[in-house]
Amino acid sequence: MNARNTLKINQNGHLEIGGADTVALAEQFGTPLYVMDEQYIRDMCAAYKRAIDEEYGGNGLVLYASKAFSCKAVYRIVQEEGIGVDVVSGGELYTALQAGFPAEKIYVHGNNKLRSELEFSVESGVGAIVVDAYSELDALDEICAEKGVVQDILIRVNPGVEAHTHHFIQTAKTDSKFGFSIADGSAEKIAKYALGKKNLALQGFHSHIGSQIFEMQSFKLAAEKLLTFAAQLRENTGFEAAKLNLGGGFGIWYTDDDAKQSVADYAENLKSLFREVSGLADRKGLRRPYLLVEPGRSIVGEAGITLYTVGAIKDIPGVKKYVAVDGGMFENPRYALYQAKYTAVLANRAAEKPTETVSVAGKCCESGDIVCANVSLPRACSGDILAVLSTGAYNYSMAGNYNRNPVPPVILVKDGRADYIVKPQTYEDIVRNDVIPERLR
Ligand SMILES: *Cc1c(COP(=O)(O)O)cnc(C)c1O
Repeated sequence: MNARNTLKINQNGHLEIGGADTVALAEQFGTPLYVMDEQYIRDMCAAYKRAIDEEYGGNGLVLYASKAFSCKAVYRIVQEEGIGVDVVSGGELYTALQAGFPAEKIYVHGNNKLRSELEFSVESGVGAIVVDAYSELDALDEICAEKGVVQDILIRVNPGVEAHTHHFIQTAKTDSKFGFSIADGSAEKIAKYALGKKNLALQGFHSHIGSQIFEMQSFKLAAEKLLTFAAQLRENTGFEAAKLNLGGGFGIWYTDDDAKQSVADYAENLKSLFREVSGLADRKGLRRPYLLVEPGRSIVGEAGITLYTVGAIKDIPGVKKYVAVDGGMFENPRYALYQAKYTAVLANRAAEKPTETVSVAGKCCESGDIVCANVSLPRACSGDILAVLSTGAYNYSMAGNYNRNPVPPVILVKDGRADYIVKPQTYEDIVRNDVIPERLR
């Protein structure tokens, strides 16, 4: 059903993931419930790592972009698979360190890192900080001077390649809060500024051109812009970048409008990108750089599903049918944010053919609180278990407590076993930080 058939329909006609019956999971753990397939995550990490080892002599590191799905267990899994991570906040860094993740394999991102986050990163001994502002260079240099350390950094540049799902455009001027433009000279200027900082060691450059991208050509074009920039900078300053970080953004299957790719397909795509970089570096007379890539969505996205119980059903004749579930924008805000598309199935009647198109609504007090619009389902009834597929990335990690709904738990399944990796929030958790000051008593 998903790209790797970790999802199947068992002999009871129930949806199964990682060897576990989803109807039984819903019964045992309740709904809404995030379910993550451990083997899928491991296989994707291993395939990406193998691609670097086989095609690029191991001269690089895969960083799991942990903003896609962050909790202690996922850092543990990723660590066991021998890859690194990137984090974009003090909270993600803290979670990774709490899980025992080795600091030197952590890269720190963010367009507006707090001073406290920079201090925390330096103190923790992270592998590199990807700098994205002059003020950040100044603050970081100061912090390192105080602490008597030299910190490895990369600079985030904007290669002028804007990638969208199935096409990309080249632009000289990109309106983005991220990065420094190569085309207008800003990237070279900040690189020179960074080279003047005594407590910072510039290792190279980073670019991230977008997300949910299927067109490898867009990554190759960005790589070419980066290498051309690196060659030009060497000519102008004598500085040669040792590391290039090509970012993440590899697309996944949400609906049949998206390509279904196997683990091997992802690995092959990455290999072709590495081959391109090797060729470009050789042609430009550059040393082949240490390469980093940062897949997030493609490692965890298809590993996850969300289980719901169907509640109210509202058929508005001639307009639309709403099937409401016990979740919503508090646990998956992606439809509300950008009309994200999903595939849904009735987990307890997974073998039945779809007969109607409905919108799956949440329980929040917002008309825009839709989990997925226009999905094909068999005629759903109250009490059915509904599964939304490919929810492993940017669902739990974007969850909140709107309407004071508790964030659902996350369970990890493997070979039919299921364990909590994030426990359910209770109402007590929700009021934990509430305070009634004396004068209101
Ligand atoms: C979000 C992000 C990624 C991961 O993107 P995916 O689409 O999840 O692969 C990687 N690098 C940076 C800098 C990002 O902001």
